[in-house]
Amino acid sequence: MPLDHRHSVCPHDCPSACALEIERLNDRTIGRVRGADTNNYTQGVICAKVARYAERVHHPDRLMKPLIRVGAKGEGKFAEASWDEALDRVAEAFKAKAAEYGSETVWPYFFAGTMGFVQRDGLQRLRHVMKYSRQAANICTDLVSNGWASGAGGPMGPDPRELADSDLIIMWGGNPVSTQVNVMTHVTKARKQRGARFVVVDAYRSPTAEVADELVLVKPGTDGAVATAIIHVLFRDGLADRDYMERYTDNWRDLEDHVRTRTPAWAEEISGVPANQIEALAKRIGATPRTYIRIGYGFSRSRNGPSQVHAVASIAAVGGKFLHRGGGAFWSNRIVYKWDKSMIEGADAIDPSIRVLDMSRIGAVLTGEDETVAKGPPVTAMLIQNTNPAAVAPDTHRVLRGLRRDDLFLCVHEQFMTETAQHADVVLPATTFLEHDDIYQAGGQMHIQVHRAVIEAPGETRSNHWVHCELAKRLGADHAGFNMTEWELVDRTLKDSGWPSADEILEKKWHDIQPNFEDSHFLNGFPTPSGKFRFQADWSAMGPLGHLLPAMPDHCRTIDEATEDRPFRMITSPARNYLNTSFTETPTSKRREGRPTVMVHPEAADRLDIAEGDRVRLGNQQGSVVLHAKLFDGVQPGVVVVESVWPNAAFEEGIGINALVSADPGPPNGGAVFHDTAVWMVKA
Ligand code: SF4
Repeated sequence: MPLDHRHSVCPHDCPSACALEIERLNDRTIGRVRGADTNNYTQGVICAKVARYAERVHHPDRLMKPLIRVGAKGEGKFAEASWDEALDRVAEAFKAKAAEYGSETVWPYFFAGTMGFVQRDGLQRLRHVMKYSRQAANICTDLVSNGWASGAGGPMGPDPRELADSDLIIMWGGNPVSTQVNVMTHVTKARKQRGARFVVVDAYRSPTAEVADELVLVKPGTDGAVATAIIHVLFRDGLADRDYMERYTDNWRDLEDHVRTRTPAWAEEISGVPANQIEALAKRIGATPRTYIRIGYGFSRSRNGPSQVHAVASIAAVGGKFLHRGGGAFWSNRIVYKWDKSMIEGADAIDPSIRVLDMSRIGAVLTGEDETVAKGPPVTAMLIQNTNPAAVAPDTHRVLRGLRRDDLFLCVHEQFMTETAQHADVVLPATTFLEHDDIYQAGGQMHIQVHRAVIEAPGETRSNHWVHCELAKRLGADHAGFNMTEWELVDRTLKDSGWPSADEILEKKWHDIQPNFEDSHFLNGFPTPSGKFRFQADWSAMGPLGHLLPAMPDHCRTIDEATEDRPFRMITSPARNYLNTSFTETPTSKRREGRPTVMVHPEAADRLDIAEGDRVRLGNQQGSVVLHAKLFDGVQPGVVVVESVWPNAAFEEGIGINALVSADPGPPNGGAVFHDTAVWMVKA
């Protein structure tokens, strides 16, 4: 009998949203998962962790029944309950807390465990209709997004498939081999067919850097200096495209003056990157019209991250690279989708007077130490979907202290018993993407994709949308979106956004919305008020901390600099087999990752008498963690790398690496500074 293959879309928190082909063995079981060959972005390539999805969807530890806490908070003791009992309990608690403190005491909290709009963003509808506290959803993209917006405006750019037409590809602060593998498909084409050079700029020799032609190894938080020195060389050596700048950018003459002192030697002092390497790279950029800078997230997750992103994007504008096919700079395609998600999100019910709480500061919010929450009622009730802040959010000690509060009623709707779910009063079992319908965009590419459930939901698992609607009934939340099916919401969102219907897109599997060459390359103007790329960023217009960032490309010293007491700069780059804490439950991913490890330069290890495999303690003012050392010469000696995100329980003392990461809001307007931490290190 021929195998039954169904079209699907990867829902995980990754810019690719790969088109998938799922081998369906029967109503309840899948076999292999492959990338769709006929999708011209995915091109049959997906990451290994999703290719072995059967391990995750059929995992024996999937939550199958609603649970109600019977032990102490956080102890992890639960009794099975019916859906009615569990949902009634949640609704009663939300009503009682709201009656006592006002509606803002309830804080629905979610992120991108699924990227499908219906299952991810539908919680907004319940929030807005009930006037529950709003959420600044800034933990992942705000720093990079503000950095891009400060120069180029809304996120879009040269077609990501044009990487294959490039002669020089610079992957700046990203590691697609581990995190977005199909970028490499297009990079490989350019290398094979055009002899393109592939350069990685990163703070460690990542798996992507391992396969590159060149690695520019920076100290974390100093990319802005390297980028500014490249701009210096472009101007100094007559490699800047003055005609292009005159037509498409602001203030380029001021920029030329500004960078006169930002020499490669100046940048070497700051970044540790040899001046001659910066010179050579700048000259290569200057001589290569088809230079494509692919901007990653890593170097944005720092207190100076947005200014670093602005400086890197400015290289492409100074060089006039956007004029050429296979040239320019790209971070995300988000604005080309032109979504109207009002029905999913209940946008008509938004009350702007309701407070907005910073999701990256959940620890401070729950302990009452955050400024915004200190001015109003405490958060005493939460529903968490699609995220695991107990391990993922910065400042873990404070997050756990908050989650353990006896007066906090916590409901977690999840696929597995995460460390956040362990702290819940009520745990609800959730479907995976294979068991519900949804619609997806892809920031890293250009296809709208829709998806219908491939298999039946196992046990008593229910979709997020179903839970939103059931709670709405019990809470008296009235909105048309609660009376629609998932598929109806998909269809309505497409229609409201001016795209073909859900059935039409399903029929052809995806819908390519990449704008034409002129628009993608900003030849009809940048999506900024003046239509020009801005070398002069207006950070203060973007948020209250804008004054901390430099207007022009530069090195910005707002970072958590290494000191005598904390001499190492730490980054927590994504582990190849995990995606945040998703996949930390699957046996193959766990086996491949081994154990929590800190990568230490041999010179630093020698000084501290640390040998391969030794137990090491890393710490700062927020706490300390124990892990094992791996000697690694792919970092500068003052840098350590802890690939993440491991659950807290994987660490010897039950506390994970985000205990050391600060919840300081990144300028100009918040965002988590995951790669901006100074630590001390000793042999444990
Ligand atoms: S590369 Fe990203 S989008 Fe593609 S399958 Fe892997 S996690 Fe999903």
